[in-house]
Amino acid sequence: MKSLIVQKYGGSSVKSIDRIKRVAERIVNRKKSGDDIVVVVSAMGDTTDELIALAKAINENPPSREMDVLLATGEQVSISLLAMAIGAMGHDVVSLTGAQCGIRTSDVHKRATIAGIDTGRIQQELADGKIVIAAGFQGIAKNYDITTLGRGGSDTSAVALAVALKARQCEIYTDVNGVYTADPRIVDEATKLSSISYQEVLELASLGAGVLHPRAVEMAEKYRMPLVVRNSYNETEGTIIKEDVIMEKVLVRGIALDENIAKISVFEVPDQPGIAFKLFSTLAKGDIHVDMIVQNVNRTSVNDISFTVNVDELQEAVDLTQKFAFEVGAQKVEYDQGVAKLSVVGTGIVANAEVASKFFETLFKLGINIQTISTSEIKISCLIDKERAKEAMVAIHKAFGL
Ligand code: ADP
Ligand code: ASP
Ligand code: MG
Repeated sequence: MKSLIVQKYGGSSVKSIDRIKRVAERIVNRKKSGDDIVVVVSAMGDTTDELIALAKAINENPPSREMDVLLATGEQVSISLLAMAIGAMGHDVVSLTGAQCGIRTSDVHKRATIAGIDTGRIQQELADGKIVIAAGFQGIAKNYDITTLGRGGSDTSAVALAVALKARQCEIYTDVNGVYTADPRIVDEATKLSSISYQEVLELASLGAGVLHPRAVEMAEKYRMPLVVRNSYNETEGTIIKEDVIMEKVLVRGIALDENIAKISVFEVPDQPGIAFKLFSTLAKGDIHVDMIVQNVNRTSVNDISFTVNVDELQEAVDLTQKFAFEVGAQKVEYDQGVAKLSVVGTGIVANAEVASKFFETLFKLGINIQTISTSEIKISCLIDKERAKEAMVAIHKAFGL
């Protein structure tokens, strides 16, 4: 029986016509080795950013539904061009949009979640001997509206298709050789990991290591789908992500930096039961993902509450927080985009005070102030000044000898 492979090529791998041709060759060679192939592609290069800039030139706060209609066009360009390139090499191929792939999603625009995949059409095309080129990042809601899955969401499309089609593995092709101990574009000394567990890579991804979309890792772990991250520009082996990786016991596996966040603060909120509940349930209802919450301890009848959100959700979060502040009689709402979250990740962090002390000491030696700290069993995160975040990342990577 033939086995099926799902491959995903990110925007950096299909950024030009030349790159699309090279990717087409790679796919055709793989097909010749006997596997059936479904390929998920992102929009070319910086297309998604350019489309967002176009929308903002018309409306600073464009409606989410129309944003999805606009953003989904990026992937439609790349699937058709890639299919043409493969067709020109004499192979049977078909491009399919998210809706044509049967990718059904929730109706939350700009960050929809996949509800299920009706694989009939893809199965039919594969049975006809075709290579299937699927648009990543997009799906269709119950009412037939086009939806998108959030920035970087093509990884999630790929894993979801791999699971639904019972693929042997899901291969994520990008512009670096695999998953590293830190972003190799920021930290020159970062080292490539030959394998890593779902849990550790999920933590790195959730904390800002842009190499994989967190939901893709979550889904891969849930269904035990082996994930491989490889470079589309060369033949190096990449990083394998699976459950049973036997890894050398280390305190810290990697460092992640998230520069895509902002801090929102509400000042002089009444010190009463139910206030935090009211604020965060309002944000939850708006599908805003909230992180790093702090409430200061005051000796008066009012408190200040701060939290961080993703910059993509900042405008909506500020609007909801202002509404809350007005209702409860808080003094004012402020936000700050000049922050970044730097995190150390590793399963050895739990119950080891040394990691925290080395982390804080390194920041202290650089004279960098810590605004907020948050911890879990496998990570420690600090909110710091964005301007100095990359420098701090390099120093922390060195301090832990990664
Ligand atoms: P694609 O277009 O293929 O989706 P992305 O830009 O989304 O590519 O992801 C790849 C980038 O992720 C790399 O170029 C790298 O700068 C960044 N990155 C951040 N953290 C890491 C890490 N720990 N390991 C590898 N790459 C990382
Ligand atoms: N094109 C989308 C983005 O830039 C999705 C992706 O690349 O995964 O976020
Ligand atoms: Mg990506």
